[in-house]
Amino acid sequence: MTARNPLNRSLADGIQRVGFRKWYERELLSSHAHMALALVAAVAMMASFEAFHGASAGEKILNTGFVLLCAAVTLWAMRRYLYLLMHAEELANQANCGQCEAYGLLKLQDAQDRRPQAQRLVPVCCKRCGFRWNLEVD
Ligand SMILES: [Zn+2]
Repeated sequence: MTARNPLNRSLADGIQRVGFRKWYERELLSSHAHMALALVAAVAMMASFEAFHGASAGEKILNTGFVLLCAAVTLWAMRRYLYLLMHAEELANQANCGQCEAYGLLKLQDAQDRRPQAQRLVPVCCKRCGFRWNLEVD
């Protein structure tokens, strides 16, 4: 899943505007908001199942629509939650400076490698010691 939610900034944009730690925090908040949505949609789906008892044929058809809608929202939100969480964790695991071990003190660098396979790499620099490395984004 490479399509990004317009509310979630890309890594390079996030580092440049708010810094890595804030970007990471926002990704985690966004992922957990999706988890909460998945829980609410799952509860709504169970409530729609409950509404089947004693319902007329028309109401049962309507409830079937609600169940399908809630199931779709639950699956989408759960998938989005897992994607955002795993993406943030994968990048957090690469955010330690290789020289001074500082975590998340990153400054965005200009990309020098213009090859297509290098598009997945975000060049960064440690704010403390100046060590340079690439974060690999999938
Ligand atoms: Zn460093």
